[in-house]
Amino acid sequence: MNKTLRKAIVAGNWKMNNDRNAAKKLITELNPLVKDAACEVVLCVPYTNLETALSLCEGTNMHVGAENCHWAKSGAFTGEISAEMLAEMGVEYVIIGHSERRQYFGETDQTVQARVRAALDAGLKVILCVGEVLEQREQGITEEVVALQTKVALGGVSEEELSRIVIAYEPVWAIGTGKTATADQAEEVCAFIRSVVAKLYSKAAADALTIQYGGSMKPGNAKELLSKEDVDGGLIGGAALVASDFAAIIEAAR
Ligand code: PEP
Repeated sequence: MNKTLRKAIVAGNWKMNNDRNAAKKLITELNPLVKDAACEVVLCVPYTNLETALSLCEGTNMHVGAENCHWAKSGAFTGEISAEMLAEMGVEYVIIGHSERRQYFGETDQTVQARVRAALDAGLKVILCVGEVLEQREQGITEEVVALQTKVALGGVSEEELSRIVIAYEPVWAIGTGKTATADQAEEVCAFIRSVVAKLYSKAAADALTIQYGGSMKPGNAKELLSKEDVDGGLIGGAALVASDFAAIIEAAR
């Protein structure tokens, strides 16, 4: 079964949540609950929690990620953080192209491509988010939208570099809304993304690519979503803020 060819990864996206004490409490609670996880566990946290997360995750099976990075190495970009700065701290992953960045902060497919380039050059692993908004799904153009987002974001990425990329399929209408895509809808688009990657690179590269589903994944629906052939993990927002819920999703990935 092709699913065994790739690594299952469950990543939490904390968004703009958790002060330092809350971060410490959550990671300390999570550690014993996920220590025997069968998948890779990643915590993507606000910049202000990176140091805390890095120190508490050291020696555990939890990996640390940021939620964004800038495309330049350094320079006059007030308020921004470069991929190099993250890598220097010991951060391993970075989320790029999350729909909230596209929606509220002017992120475009071109800036996503530039950030992916910078992250790879800095040695980071990328969780690249793609997904359609409700109107696009209703117009029947989901495949066109995710194909374009994927192709532009991966422009200039070599097949060797693709091994440091995870794609998260996140239908925007399902993020933070409590509306989950059905397991069949998630599978259909994840399989489609894999076919796009196979055409861009090779079948072997596509088979090895981890593709996550994200959008209101919870303990109650995780097992069904994660059992699908082309769904190799999850990007989890709200449920990643509650240790027992996040741990239950990780368990469902077994
Ligand atoms: C996300 O932020 O990537 C996400 C999937 O959020 P939620 O799980 O809350 O829908």
